[in-house]
Amino acid sequence: MASNASSRASLRSERQIPTGRVGNGSASARTKSVPPKRSATASSLRSPVDPDNADPGRVRVAVRLRPRNADDFPHDSDFTSCVELQPEFKRLKLRKNNWSSESYRFDEVFTERSSQLRVYEAVAKPVVESVLAGYNGTVMAYGQTGTGKTYTVGRLGKDDPSERGIMVRALEDILASTSAVSDIVEVSYLQLYLESVQDLLAPEKNNIPIAEDPKTGEVSLPGAAVVELRDLDHFLELLQTGEANRHASNTKLNTESSRSHAILAVHIQRSLKGKEEKDSSSLANSSDNFSSHRVPLLLKSKLLIVDLAGSERINKSGSEGHMLEEAKFINLSLTSLGKCINALAENSPHIPTRDSKLTRLLRDSFGGSARTSLIITIGPSAKYYSETSSTIMFGQRAMKIVNTVKLKEEVDYESLYRKVENQVDSLTSELERQQKLRDADKVQMQKKLKEYEASFAEFEETFSMKSENLEKENNRLELEIRRLVEDLNNEKHQNDLMSKEIVHLKMSLNQSKEQQLENSMSQNILADTTQMYGKKIEELLKQLEDEQSRSASLEEQLNEMCQQLSDTQNSLQTQENVVDELKKELSEIHEESTSQIQSLKVKYDELFSEKELLYEELKSMEEKVLNEARQRKSLEEEVLKLNRALCDNSVELESKGPYSMTRSASGLSGAVFMPRSVKSRETISGQKDTISKIFEEVGLSNILSMLKSEDLDVQIHAVKVVANLAAEDINQERIVEEGGLDALLLLLEASENTTIHRVTAGAIANLAMNGSNQGLIMNKGGARLLANIASKTNDPQTLRMVAGAIANLCGNEKLHVTLKKDGGIKALLGMIRGGHSDVIAQIARGIANFAKCESRSISQGFRKGRSLLIEDGALNWMVANSTTFSASTSRHIELAFCHLAQNEDNAGDIISSGGIKELVRISQVSSREDIRNLAKKALNSNPVLLAAAR
Ligand code: ADP
Ligand code: MG
Repeated sequence: MASNASSRASLRSERQIPTGRVGNGSASARTKSVPPKRSATASSLRSPVDPDNADPGRVRVAVRLRPRNADDFPHDSDFTSCVELQPEFKRLKLRKNNWSSESYRFDEVFTERSSQLRVYEAVAKPVVESVLAGYNGTVMAYGQTGTGKTYTVGRLGKDDPSERGIMVRALEDILASTSAVSDIVEVSYLQLYLESVQDLLAPEKNNIPIAEDPKTGEVSLPGAAVVELRDLDHFLELLQTGEANRHASNTKLNTESSRSHAILAVHIQRSLKGKEEKDSSSLANSSDNFSSHRVPLLLKSKLLIVDLAGSERINKSGSEGHMLEEAKFINLSLTSLGKCINALAENSPHIPTRDSKLTRLLRDSFGGSARTSLIITIGPSAKYYSETSSTIMFGQRAMKIVNTVKLKEEVDYESLYRKVENQVDSLTSELERQQKLRDADKVQMQKKLKEYEASFAEFEETFSMKSENLEKENNRLELEIRRLVEDLNNEKHQNDLMSKEIVHLKMSLNQSKEQQLENSMSQNILADTTQMYGKKIEELLKQLEDEQSRSASLEEQLNEMCQQLSDTQNSLQTQENVVDELKKELSEIHEESTSQIQSLKVKYDELFSEKELLYEELKSMEEKVLNEARQRKSLEEEVLKLNRALCDNSVELESKGPYSMTRSASGLSGAVFMPRSVKSRETISGQKDTISKIFEEVGLSNILSMLKSEDLDVQIHAVKVVANLAAEDINQERIVEEGGLDALLLLLEASENTTIHRVTAGAIANLAMNGSNQGLIMNKGGARLLANIASKTNDPQTLRMVAGAIANLCGNEKLHVTLKKDGGIKALLGMIRGGHSDVIAQIARGIANFAKCESRSISQGFRKGRSLLIEDGALNWMVANSTTFSASTSRHIELAFCHLAQNEDNAGDIISSGGIKELVRISQVSSREDIRNLAKKALNSNPVLLAAAR
């Protein structure tokens, strides 16, 4: 580095041509033929023949931007770039924040995509050519750690030659341009750390002193290893060894390479003898001083390629745990370089080159006597704004060095003026273009705004129309609901009348005969059932009330929606979506409430039909009661006679007399079996007393164990007691809990006795009134056992019990499939054979139970397909016999048939069995309105049936 400004200006003419040291012909393996010379390329940053760059002392500064890497995205997010490159203007814009940015001009601006070759050719190649021409030269890389100094300068590119850095490419050019015979190329590779020079080619050499020739000012390192190069591979090996030593040394010293400077010194000694004839390259042009000489001459020159320590150390090393002294040393060389550059830039009379080892080493290679290129490397991340900024300022100051040469200033001013003018022109036209684009955009936007306004008005109109319609619809629904409530109230009123009538009937029954215990109990049950319906009606009313309140809340929702809509009128697009959703929701709610009202109607119809059935049964019951009263009178007379003979023997009589169970009331909801006796009142009460006595004294478990007795009489008595107990709800659970069900089923299976079969079937029928018992009976194979008994006997009483039990099981939809599989349906229908009206009444009740539950589960979507009843022949029987039996049985058959007709999967069977005629008949002449409606519904809802009916 020149020691002052004047020496810099005059150095070229002062250039000494050292003599002596002709190529010593050491073991050079390079080709001995004269290699072809490479000419300077037009892309060079500064070619020696470039008229624009006539100042050879000018420090050329290029900036290179590293591509983004992982360090720039620490959390894969928030990356902002603070750098914007304008390579066409050789400018770099540094953004401090969104409002302020600075623009800097450099000799060359390399984007993150610039190739190593382009960087070499623009930055280093002119220096290399100048060195080949006999000048000293320096290429330095300056920048923050991690920005690509080593990548730019020191990369070996062993696998991919296009990756090679400046060092390798420079030596490639130098070796190609020199002769292995007459020229010598030698290298030293050094590291400067903490103001100590270490030899990277001979790591044992440390703290190598710097020598300076006081006359020539030439700087040398006498202690450092100097290796003469044979070829490029030799150089690559040396560079690799140097890198390995650098790594080892840094590991030992516990430092990183980023804290040290790496310096490659290339010494070239060229013999000019015999070159002039062959060589017409830049050497001859640029060194006309020598070309005229015909005497053998030696050109000695030196190229330094420096990978500087990370520039961030200037500010930060003190804070990284170093002792103050150490930190000062780490910074010293770089700080000192900065100072020298400042002094050179300001044309200061004193350049403080002696302050550090680095500046002493660069003394004869940096400044006026040599060609120098500086490449500054920066990263894109805004995170390192201040580092990047200080690097750029360093480069800018280095560029100023040339501005101190006055003559150049003028030339530069003109070209600068031209370029700036061009820039202003292009910027002005760009500005105008942008302005025009903006104007066009504005017109476009205004047009769109108008369109939006128009469509918004249109939308507003349709919306108000729609909300009016919705309001109307809502009012209509409200009216409908009110009407339904009224209907229900009327129904309730009728029901009340009915219950009054029932109470009245009950009273008259009570009056008729107190001893008719069985009948009075059945009345109680009827009263309970009526109450239950009263409750159900109340529930329905409650549901209706809920419905009303729902509709009120719907209204509220509607109001809210209207409110929302008016609130969001500013954003047309979103509003449309919201309104669409609201409409959808409203129609869904409307549909839902309509379907709920419909299902309520259906439920109401069903309840009404059940009530009708009940009413009819009550009537037939009354008839029976009257008949029985008459019968009883005659029997009483008979009993009076018998009593005389058997007055003390009532218990015996009971055990011997015919024991039977009868259904005291029937309905779809279940059947209750109570002992019915043709014996006198006294006998009945005696029997009951006996049973309760047995129960109290013997205990249930003992009674149940008696079911397994060897003695048939004991078994019969025990099963009778159990059957009687099973008629009471409160006993049913205990009987099952204590294994009574198992014992009864075992008895049914094992016993051959008809009485046992009859009474056991009755007991099971009683237990089968309870939902959870039904499941247990099925699980334990009860249906199969009952079917077996049904097939074995023709005793009408037994068949009635079995049919009653199966009929109760038919009322549980979950058991249908098993019931069918276990032959329950077949057995039920099989019992028709005897033609006993009591048995057939149970069968009809069972089928109605089954069909009703099945139809419900199909309508709720739990089941699909043809009815399970059809296969076993129920349908044909129903079609043929709906008018054959008593009124109550006929209603049951009609009801069952109408339920089957609701399922469209049964339509084919109904048509083929001739059921259409029957369906039409029921729809017209059935005595019950609800059954007529059910038939009509089946016909109207199924086009296949309707077509067949026509
Ligand atoms: P420095 O020597 O300034 O500390 P390096 O040269 O070690 O930085 O570069 C840091 C990382 O960035 C390395 O992995 C290097 O390969 C990568 N890198 C630097 N510059 C470039 C570039 N121009 N293209 C691709 N990768 C680069
Ligand atoms: Mg590095």
